[in-house]
Amino acid sequence: MSNPKTTWMKNPLSVFTANDEDARGGIVVSGNKIVELIALGQVPQTSYHEVFDASESVLLPGLINTHHHLYQTLTRAFPPALNKRLFPWLQTLYPVWARLQPEMLSAATELGLSELLLSGCTTVSDHHYLFPEALTEAIDIQVQAASKVGTRVTLTRGSMSLGQDDGGLPPQSTVQSDDAILKDSERLIRQYHDASEGSMVNIALAPCSPFSVTTELMKQTASLARDHGVRLHTHLAETEDENNFCLKTFGMRPVDYLESVNWMSNDVWLAHGIHFNNDELHRLGRAGVGVCHCPSSNMVLASGICRTLELEEHGSPVGLGVDGSASNDGSNMIQEVRQAMLINRLRYEADEVTHFDALRWATKGSASVLGRSDIGELAVGKQADIALFKLDEARFSGSHDPLAALLLCGAHNANAVMVAGEWRVLDGGLVSGDLSDLISSHSSLSKRLVSDY
Ligand SMILES: [Zn+2]
Repeated sequence: MSNPKTTWMKNPLSVFTANDEDARGGIVVSGNKIVELIALGQVPQTSYHEVFDASESVLLPGLINTHHHLYQTLTRAFPPALNKRLFPWLQTLYPVWARLQPEMLSAATELGLSELLLSGCTTVSDHHYLFPEALTEAIDIQVQAASKVGTRVTLTRGSMSLGQDDGGLPPQSTVQSDDAILKDSERLIRQYHDASEGSMVNIALAPCSPFSVTTELMKQTASLARDHGVRLHTHLAETEDENNFCLKTFGMRPVDYLESVNWMSNDVWLAHGIHFNNDELHRLGRAGVGVCHCPSSNMVLASGICRTLELEEHGSPVGLGVDGSASNDGSNMIQEVRQAMLINRLRYEADEVTHFDALRWATKGSASVLGRSDIGELAVGKQADIALFKLDEARFSGSHDPLAALLLCGAHNANAVMVAGEWRVLDGGLVSGDLSDLISSHSSLSKRLVSDY
């Protein structure tokens, strides 16, 4: 058996490990893992085949996006949905999304994952909850597209079962029966969920939100997930409107509702998690429920600001997400890290939220939200998922602390990105696949989706 290729990423300009280890001399990657961290001024003990000169780059663990709706890349900046609050925004877009076709979802997944990869993101969780008749194999399509792009994914089998006829928000044509949802969820877990170390595909179950599924489906989904050891995900406490909806429909606030359907547990992560009172923060932390903070989306929809530091203090893992590309409307992870730092300074003080906090959320925090211990850090034995950013653009000129500059000066593009030991981005571009072809087919499909709307 031949030895796996071993590379020393040598002497980075700056490095963030997401732990206390010294990697100022770089890291050694062998096969799909990190095998050695090199302290300042030291050289590797491991023998290596090649050297990657990182002296002009900032080295980070690959960024991890814990909440997205990749299909929404097809409806970015869509005029009828501009400048609306969450519920009317959703009601405007549901009829468009109901027309989604397989080739559109495939192109959207490929485009969104490529966009994320170019921004330093190596693991993506997508929340897909639209299964109109033409698209019952949505997750199968996404598995294919993800393997083509080469990012690690947690694909969440979303669901909507409470249509307008039954007091829910989505139109009837976009909802499925509880039975069909549960059957397909089980099929997908059996077919694609890989729980092993270094896994490229995880499946999780994800009813869309309390206002789009039945109580029974929330309960049965939890029990199905636990039978198979997969995680649970949903949107929760995004807006005050949702609090009011839950009080009116279920006679309780969203966290009480979550508890009533057996979801208060450390195998659950929530998107947004904004409108919690102090008692709810305690209960979520005690249960170990994770929260994906989505700063840009929360600003676009004026939803509010997540109580990140308090959630962490109480024991909840906190990660970051770009959220769907119709409420962001970008899928740029390093930009999202900047947004997280900025918006949290509006909730807390400038010296309470640093660039280190925002980078921690996007790496180790996000890994923990997804229930993974093999990614999110530069440490021996972790997967070789890394992002390198060169500070050679005008925006960085005159900056002095390279790591802080990455966020403060607004980095957009990674120069090099590795996933599981494979280079996926080099010289700022995708290693495989033609991005301009992808943009051209994706944009024409997006026009078809909204035609005669
Ligand atoms: Zn979302």
